[in-house]
Amino acid sequence: MAGTVIIGAGQGGYQVAASLREHKYQASITLVGDEGLLPYQRPPLSKAYLLGEMDGERLLLRPQAFYETRNIDLILDDAATAIDRAAGRVTLASGKTLAYDHLVLALGARNRKLPIAGAALDGVFYLRTRAESDAIHQRILDARSIAVIGAGFIGLELAAVASKLGKRVTVVEALGRAMSRAVSQPISDFFARAHAGWGVELLFNARLQEIVEAGGRVAGLVLADRSRLGADLVLVGIGIEPNVELAAAAGLETNNGIVVDAQMATSDPHISAIGDCAAFPDPVSGARIRLESVQNAVDQARCVAKRITGEPETYAAVPWFWSDQRDLKLQMVGLTAGCDRTVLRGDPANRAFSVFCFRGETLLGIESVNRAADHMFGRRLLAAGESITPDEAVDPGFDLKARLAKIPAPARAAG
Ligand SMILES: Cc1cc2nc3c(=O)[nH]c(=O)nc-3n(C[C@H](O)[C@H](O)[C@H](O)COP(=O)(O)OP(=O)(O)OC[C@H]3O[C@@H](n4cnc5c(N)ncnc54)[C@H](O)[C@@H]3O)c2cc1C
Repeated sequence: MAGTVIIGAGQGGYQVAASLREHKYQASITLVGDEGLLPYQRPPLSKAYLLGEMDGERLLLRPQAFYETRNIDLILDDAATAIDRAAGRVTLASGKTLAYDHLVLALGARNRKLPIAGAALDGVFYLRTRAESDAIHQRILDARSIAVIGAGFIGLELAAVASKLGKRVTVVEALGRAMSRAVSQPISDFFARAHAGWGVELLFNARLQEIVEAGGRVAGLVLADRSRLGADLVLVGIGIEPNVELAAAAGLETNNGIVVDAQMATSDPHISAIGDCAAFPDPVSGARIRLESVQNAVDQARCVAKRITGEPETYAAVPWFWSDQRDLKLQMVGLTAGCDRTVLRGDPANRAFSVFCFRGETLLGIESVNRAADHMFGRRLLAAGESITPDEAVDPGFDLKARLAKIPAPARAAG
């Protein structure tokens, strides 16, 4: 038996290997990565690790011994360059080939690049890898004023770290509010006020036209309205693009991600795709979506491991995500596109509240700031396929815990 080959030694790739062994998979497992590092967590790269409050050992998902004791073969400094589907074989950049019975593509994504003049100057940084976080950490310490491009999660986490380190920070965002692709207006407004309180200047509806230099290094920005601002460091967080080229070259279907079915199988049943690179059918709406989160990579990895070990199931996990910005922990559960009504629980003035997002009377998701119990409530309620009403959500006397106890036991266990 040729066993399972996993391409991409990140969050999802690691989890497939670990889950296969948990499910008593007996054949060989080879995990191939191209970063030269044991699989590690990315979220701290823009949070505690970037601040210098966490060391590299703690970033690792597991120590070397974990893979040795489970007989998981690691190739950590080679990239897959071609898939021969007819022969069931992957070729690596080194020329090495690996035979597979099952191939898992956990290729992640790469940063979208700024398409403007000055984007390649010394002093312009993107963040995806540990090496990039290390480089940014040093440059933040040395910088006097920092421009962050993009007020999404990564951009605002970078701004939070830089402002905490005492730097002057300006955030330039093309759209009208913070984290607008992912959160409701009340959360956007709250975080904009919080950043302003930390001394961060936020420019919305601002289009970056050019990055200007002095002596070959970044000196500032020019915006579309011709206004200028000085900056000796530019940190860019304008989204990511899924790594689909390897799959597309092998003739697999791609469309904003590697297209998979409800069990994470590509158009070739011997090949699965998971995590940031996979476009899958949303279990609620049926629409094809692609998510960029730890939960998504981990749960899809588990789903594939179950299928490979003969327990296939339809992917039905409830999406959740978090972002840490200084003293604020933002946690989101559910997909809230299509929300037509938001209800507040708790008090933004106390920096602890949740926004319950509804379509009509149906709860789509919950966005919580420093209210972990509301978040956990949402995860369990939505996993059981249940809802509460807007009137219940807004009523401080409505007992969320008691509501969970009313969920029938099998559905409760699923959460
Ligand atoms: C700075 C940062 C902060 C984040 N914060 C959060 C957060 O707070 N909460 C959250 O839920 N999510 C967060 N995320 C997102 C989360 O880390 C990703 O969604 C998750 O890592 C996706 O896992 P993955 O396995 O799909 O991809 P990755 O973890 O990116 O792993 C893919 C791996 O495949 C490798 N690879 C690609 N092509 C090849 C090839 N041809 N051959 C070999 N290897 C290859 C890549 O180099 C990479 O190592 C953050 C991401 C970043 C970058």
